[in-house]
Amino acid sequence: MSRIAVLIVAAGKGERTGRTGPKQYEPLGGLPMLRRTADAFHGWPVRVVIGPGQDALYRTAMGENALPPVAGGTRRQDSVRLGLEALVTDAPDFVLIHDAARPLVSRAIIERVIAALEAGAAGAVPMLAVADTLRRQEDGQWVTVPREGLWRAQTPQGFRFADILKAHRDHQAADATDDVAIAGLAGLAVEAVAGEEDNLKVTTEKDFALAERLLGGETRSAMGYDAHRFTEGDHVWLCGVKLPHDHGLEGHSDADAGLHALTDAILGCISAGDIGQHFPPTDDRWKGAPSWKFLDHAHRLVRQKGGAVLHCDVTLICERPKIGPHREAMRARIAEILSLDIDRVSVKATTTEGMGYTGRREGLAAQAVATVSLPSRCEAVGHR
Ligand code: MG
Repeated sequence: MSRIAVLIVAAGKGERTGRTGPKQYEPLGGLPMLRRTADAFHGWPVRVVIGPGQDALYRTAMGENALPPVAGGTRRQDSVRLGLEALVTDAPDFVLIHDAARPLVSRAIIERVIAALEAGAAGAVPMLAVADTLRRQEDGQWVTVPREGLWRAQTPQGFRFADILKAHRDHQAADATDDVAIAGLAGLAVEAVAGEEDNLKVTTEKDFALAERLLGGETRSAMGYDAHRFTEGDHVWLCGVKLPHDHGLEGHSDADAGLHALTDAILGCISAGDIGQHFPPTDDRWKGAPSWKFLDHAHRLVRQKGGAVLHCDVTLICERPKIGPHREAMRARIAEILSLDIDRVSVKATTTEGMGYTGRREGLAAQAVATVSLPSRCEAVGHR
């Protein structure tokens, strides 16, 4: 039986908008994306090439039993070459080189690549035909590029180990976006095998959402409610925005009932208790605290489960202050805290027609509903 090694390239620094770290370590379906990608190759030895300063992220993502990572280089091809060099001491017959950003690679693709190599191909690459019409702009005109003969290359790209190692060593000066390009420079004949649409390269927020959907998962909604009493003062905080008013709001924190209701709604989606449990009013740390911190905390808990907030809707209930002039600022502030598009944030206002405590202007209230997507494998989150 041929000896096969897997090399996963995870050295990218690519960060997701509003996120804290490189995307390959971000959760996908409850697991760091890199871990999912590596798990797809279960049964073969997997070496991972990582970027500078990513050792701790790697350990957390992969667990203590993973093989040690390989330090990558400046360009992707440098990282691949360094990864191949790390395999030399125990050289395999074949190596499968795969992008960390393709976590949905199927067993079937992997086996097709291996089968082509075992049948004698020097290299094998999963490819997909181009379905969209392709155009190029020339002198202000859109010129149609014939699709015939055009293919999209995916990974894993498999090669005879000795051949691809030599190709990378010999062609370091070239600029190549994948290993088929390097193989081509070395004159290696690379065979195409069938790729799959689901083997997408996860790059943008939309890709993450699509990958979550392909993995399966669930959508949950929950509500939150809060009320605060008016007191002396000259402003109130509502939905993260400071509004001038002839009263203030009484509360341990900044008394932002809008953000409190929303925080509770998000906590409700993951059955994580309520805001009072996470930020007890008896704890002096939260005295006068800005409530965006509470919302941010709830959002982090969702992300730790591999989930995402999809939409939120806040209703403010008061006679005064007037909400209308501040509504767009409130939507923008919530969108900012939750890293959401503003069209996923709704802020509404109503009065109670003079009835009840809000009608008597003793205080104001807020209701919120949040919708959250969660991966099907929430239980896998504990180790993070
Ligand atoms: Mg409150």
